[in-house]
Amino acid sequence: MEQRASKVVIITGASSGIGEATAKLLASNGAAVVLAARREDRLRQIAADIRRAGGEADYFQANVASSEEMNMLVRHAVERYGRVDVLVNNAGIMPVSKLRELRVDEWERMIDVNVKGVLYGIAAVLPVMRDQRSGHIVNVSSVAGHVVSPTSAVYSATKFAVRAITEGLRQEESPETGIRTTIIAPGMTETELMNTVSSPEVKQMGEMLRGMSIPPDRIAKAIAYAIDQPDDTSVSEIVIRPTAQPM
Ligand code: NAD
Repeated sequence: MEQRASKVVIITGASSGIGEATAKLLASNGAAVVLAARREDRLRQIAADIRRAGGEADYFQANVASSEEMNMLVRHAVERYGRVDVLVNNAGIMPVSKLRELRVDEWERMIDVNVKGVLYGIAAVLPVMRDQRSGHIVNVSSVAGHVVSPTSAVYSATKFAVRAITEGLRQEESPETGIRTTIIAPGMTETELMNTVSSPEVKQMGEMLRGMSIPPDRIAKAIAYAIDQPDDTSVSEIVIRPTAQPM
């Protein structure tokens, strides 16, 4: 890298939706972005798009539900760029259904990806940020991390957990090391996630609300805003709701 990037940012779930939009926006603002997800072909393509547009991007195939792979991801970023300024824990899944209809393997997977994935990311990056005595961990929760609706009990539980983890981390780390944390809580956003909804009721509601859903680049702007704050200012949570949406 000839020119020093403004920030080195790892983004999980960067192969589509909010993660992809965030990677592209941050790179266009001068950050070096390390894209992580499971679909290597998509990551390669997005990283190439970013470089073609004059940005700095690298990628690493990683399943956030594996602590080992999250450690490898952070190690890769440090070897490539020498530091990690920001980790955006964005990867998430949402196979929503009523509790009685949700299969055990589905709720286990949701907890593995949405909760353990965030914890593995934090565990991997925290020693690096503590050594640097600086860093910022941005965790993507949801408005479902504030309000529970029928068919979203487990998804909501994972997103409440993300908020609790982020707030606990802030209390433990910020006063001592200056490491910042931000919770991002989007309302319904137009991404592939909405196509993975298995419950017919939620699908129907999703179709009704689709016209009111938020474009992913708006969520990316919220993340960029939180990251761009000066070191002595911390944005602890941003909730992004479409004006016309009921929840
Ligand atoms: P998306 O499906 O487009 O993106 C999710 C990303 O996570 C994809 O890149 C996917 O490949 C990746 N991913 C899934 N499992 C993974 C794993 N095990 N390891 C690594 N990567 C994995 O959906 P999105 O809407 O962009 O979702 C991003 C985040 O935003 C999620 O945490 C989601 O819960 C949250 N969110 C989405 C909405 C919405 O309405 N779309 C609303 C609130 C919060």
